[in-house]
Amino acid sequence: MVFKTKNRNRYLYSPTENKIIAIHPVLYDIINFKNRGIDIKDQFKKLNGDKIKIKDYGYVSSSEIEYYYQKYLLFKENNYFKKEEVDKFINGRLTPEKIESSLHNNKDIVFEVTDACNLKCKYCAYSEYYHNYDKRDNKKLSIKKALRLIDYLVNIWNLDTNQSQNTEIRIGFYGGEPLLNVPLIKEIVQYTKKINLFYNYFTYGITTNGVLLDKHMDFLVKNKFTILISLDGNEKNNAFRVFPDGKSSYGTVYKNILLFKKKFPGYFEKNVSFISIVHRLNTVENIYNYFKTNFNNAFKFSEVDPTGIKESKKEEFLKIYKRIENSLKGSKKRLEIEKEMTSGTPRGDLLVNFLNSFVGCTFVDYNDLTDLNKNKNYFPTGTCIPFNRKIFLSVSGKIYPCERIGNEYALGYVTEKEVVIDFKNAADKYNHYFDKLSNQCRSCINVRGCPICMLKMGINTNDFKCPYFRDKKHLKKLFSNIMTYLEENPDLYSKIMEEVFLE
Ligand code: SF4
Ligand code: SF4
Repeated sequence: MVFKTKNRNRYLYSPTENKIIAIHPVLYDIINFKNRGIDIKDQFKKLNGDKIKIKDYGYVSSSEIEYYYQKYLLFKENNYFKKEEVDKFINGRLTPEKIESSLHNNKDIVFEVTDACNLKCKYCAYSEYYHNYDKRDNKKLSIKKALRLIDYLVNIWNLDTNQSQNTEIRIGFYGGEPLLNVPLIKEIVQYTKKINLFYNYFTYGITTNGVLLDKHMDFLVKNKFTILISLDGNEKNNAFRVFPDGKSSYGTVYKNILLFKKKFPGYFEKNVSFISIVHRLNTVENIYNYFKTNFNNAFKFSEVDPTGIKESKKEEFLKIYKRIENSLKGSKKRLEIEKEMTSGTPRGDLLVNFLNSFVGCTFVDYNDLTDLNKNKNYFPTGTCIPFNRKIFLSVSGKIYPCERIGNEYALGYVTEKEVVIDFKNAADKYNHYFDKLSNQCRSCINVRGCPICMLKMGINTNDFKCPYFRDKKHLKKLFSNIMTYLEENPDLYSKIMEEVFLE
């Protein structure tokens, strides 16, 4: 496929080679004509040796045509124009062994230390809008179950087969509000500090609403936690984040953040970051301005989860829901924000995904790097192989591939005595989901670099249709837009390349 950008530069995309190459206008026309069944040399002969005019370039002679024709033949001989055999590579099957190996290479455990929370945020994933979570009744995670899972994983990490030496193992604490169960966090920290890991070391992180930060900041700093605070901007923009009595949480959280900053200024800047949900009470620009004015810390945007909404609450839910893309559309600072946030904005994510999927010189992880023949065994959708990114232990002892998916996707459980993961069942489940989607994926623009997690889009429902499907006829336009954007912002390419790295 050949395409042009708005700046009239020409490119060739080869699906078999998965490469995008800048090409000369003459070569572009040769390929373009060929695609329409016309041989440019025949055309030339018909003109009795007169020069042919190539758009945006000028007149070319027969020798120039011949020169680029040879290049065309070279590409052709090397299969650059061969049709993509999507059917061959979209039929990847997950095996129990693949999932087990993914668990063996997992370096990220997240514990839901409690389902209790001291806030009652309007859009919370455990609020009245959703049906896909286990009952929340102020439970606390059993320490025995947490330690059982740690022991199970330590045995794996200390095997000779551990391929990631000298890398961190991240232990994350999540809730509810995790600072409501600090005794358990302390026990896990103390326990893991005593463990003799042969090849790795532990680090700690927490996601908090910040209400109790004043009481626990010393402990967090002493143990070098990275801290992610949820805050949606100023008081007005943050107004969905309220206490159970409906009062704003902003004043309490802001005061705690300032206290932290004053007490541990260097640590605060380096290890504290923010996550902001975009909704009807704020805009991406509000949030951006707020953090730029008030703090020097990293921050990212997220959306209210639109999956798992009760039928009866759909209308009401739409009154709080806003997509980041829609919020950015009206912003004068759109370009500035998108250039700065290489991930977390739709265009930033699209660009990272594009570079990962179509440029052929970046690797998402080791599986990606070592899978030399990328046209084989490709899985539909962008869902991670279970445990490739994380292992999440819920407050009730269920095991999930991460904390962001509904309760129907548990893949195992932990009791005080054992860890049970049915790898075969997990593989069967995923393959069943893939089967539901693979036909749609085959004719979708995103087939190579789909950014969508199927577990986050209701794959469990009957007659499921992917809401993100885009017909392949849009591919040219998409490539043209992205390459135009990169041409106009050349610094973005190196920024993404520097920020996307392999551990
Ligand atoms: S959201 Fe989906 S793709 Fe992302 S970590 Fe969770 S399970 Fe994996
Ligand atoms: S966007 Fe949907 S249809 Fe397209 S590849 Fe991804 S999961 Fe498949």
